[in-house]
Amino acid sequence: MDVESLRKAGKIAAEAREFGKNLVKSGSKVVEVCDKIEAKIASLGGQPAFPVQVSLNHIAAHSCPDLNDEATFTDQLVKLDLGVAVNGMIGDNAVSIDLSGNHADLIKAAEEARDKALDLVKEKGENVTLAEIGRTIETTIHSYNFKPIRNLSGHGLGENLIHTPPTIPNHDTGEDVKLGKGVFAIEPFSTTGAGLVAEGEHEANIFSLVAPKPIRSVFARQILQHIEKEYSTLPFTTRWLMAKFGEGKTKLGLKELRQVGAIHAYPPLFERGKGVVAQAEHTILIDDKVEIITQT
Ligand code: MN
Ligand code: MN
Repeated sequence: MDVESLRKAGKIAAEAREFGKNLVKSGSKVVEVCDKIEAKIASLGGQPAFPVQVSLNHIAAHSCPDLNDEATFTDQLVKLDLGVAVNGMIGDNAVSIDLSGNHADLIKAAEEARDKALDLVKEKGENVTLAEIGRTIETTIHSYNFKPIRNLSGHGLGENLIHTPPTIPNHDTGEDVKLGKGVFAIEPFSTTGAGLVAEGEHEANIFSLVAPKPIRSVFARQILQHIEKEYSTLPFTTRWLMAKFGEGKTKLGLKELRQVGAIHAYPPLFERGKGVVAQAEHTILIDDKVEIITQT
């Protein structure tokens, strides 16, 4: 494993997270904040491992603005989730920012759950079980009288792969399975709602390459070549493609790529009870010792 690149990716992810956190203010334009954070990642020598995610209030994940999105931050609870790739090695981290003044405890619940899970992993190393991590997260979030989101989870990280096994639960699944060595993201979500997310409220604008397929139209073929070259198997967004190919060509091209199954779509995930959602995330490396690579 290229640990040096992994550490660099983690360091840049942490720096971009802190940089981004300071940009999220009532009145600032969401798309400009995303553009600035992505430019910051590039300036530090990294590549966004996925489009910078800005999920508001009851949207839990998989949300980012389109190129022409005029929205500004108001009084929302903002989840800022970003990943950085260096030579394919990925650091993934997230922070929640409360612009409403009403959700400090919800954020504290997610952060404390993450930190307690990290303490447990540090103590037990590769022998920690998935159930133990899930139980720690669930118990901590319940102690604040909130719910963890049960169908969102931490995950492994692979080379140019943002989600690899295992699924690291945010509740006690009873899985007596050891986590083992490797690179993992620990990411609890706390909510005032039902504790479950679903998709389908909005259209997806985040995609990733599944398998190159024979493509009929010139537009779609050009876009596919660009995706393979620039993003490999990492997720990308319409905003990036529209900046290069224009809106019409991007939409037509992506439509065809979806129809033939060349790309996978990630629609926004919303909380089913319309609860507000907070998130906290760090990436860790477990070898002979445990290292939190996205800590500042
Ligand atoms: Mn993340
Ligand atoms: Mn993650």
